[in-house]
Amino acid sequence: MMNDKPLDLHSLKREFHEKLHRAVSLEELEEIRVCYFGKKGILQDLMGALRLAPKEKIPELGKEINLFKEQLAVELENKKREVEERQLAKSLEKEIFDVTLPGKARLRSHPHPVLDVIEKMTEILRSLGLKEVHSNEIEQENVNFDLLNFPLDHPAKDMQDTFYLDDSMLLRTHTTTFQVPMMRLHSPPMALFCSGRVFRNEEVTSRSHQQFSQIDAFHLGKGVSLADLLSLLKLFYRRLFGDNVILRFRKSYFPFTEPSVEIDISCIRCGQKGCPICKHTGWLEVAGAGMMHPNVIQAGGHDPAVYTGWAFGMGVDRTLMLLHNIPDIRMLWESDVRFLRQF
Ligand SMILES: [Zn+2]
Repeated sequence: MMNDKPLDLHSLKREFHEKLHRAVSLEELEEIRVCYFGKKGILQDLMGALRLAPKEKIPELGKEINLFKEQLAVELENKKREVEERQLAKSLEKEIFDVTLPGKARLRSHPHPVLDVIEKMTEILRSLGLKEVHSNEIEQENVNFDLLNFPLDHPAKDMQDTFYLDDSMLLRTHTTTFQVPMMRLHSPPMALFCSGRVFRNEEVTSRSHQQFSQIDAFHLGKGVSLADLLSLLKLFYRRLFGDNVILRFRKSYFPFTEPSVEIDISCIRCGQKGCPICKHTGWLEVAGAGMMHPNVIQAGGHDPAVYTGWAFGMGVDRTLMLLHNIPDIRMLWESDVRFLRQF
């Protein structure tokens, strides 16, 4: 083909430019490259034609062909870059970030509802001027019972009600255990509370469990009265459940307080109209309280003739069940994510 035609680099170049101009994809550019630079390509033909040219013209023609080859290579490379840039711009346009699209939901953890309600309750106690302290889950038997004025034959001391670790150590059955060790550590006046898990060897049902959480508090000082406690509890439950809550005190018995009272609040579910939660009485039992027994104050190393104190204890799980209308206490301990995620 080329061999029998005079070299017309000018029209070859025009032809190349036309093809390059039409090409829009890298595949088309590759076709052009093969067509010109390939083993059987046009440039190869030109070299063949060069051999047939008159001898004196060969150096000049050779130079021209080489220059032509270099020009084509540069133009092809430029066009290739141009096509690549255009393709990149196009794909970026397609993948544009749309902030209005819904994202993928990520699973987030959060405090267990029991910890959450403890935090709520302890925050209120702190705001009422009480100081938080910590206490052991494993305790000596006498700290759990005897020093809190439990009679020697009290049924709670029975193996059937309490988890004993050995002859003298047990899992605390109430957070009231913090009273005597704290009184021995500090001098009055002191207003302290502690929260934590307690354990009882009981049958697990929808309303009772072998482990639950309690908050206990006491205030020991000169002239501390039951009236102080009752007004403090009124403030506490109104901050927790709202200003419409009414409190009721019933006479009761605990070994470590004298006198002792049981505290009820007006049902927060039905506003005392009567509902299954308050068993249609309009009242909910929420805490036990009273004046610290002189024997307990004495066990703590202080003179009950000089100092008096109030004390109360409340169940956290029961409060949580009231707050969220949870029907079964076992749900709080089963770590079922479907249940826990609701809080
Ligand atoms: Zn009710």
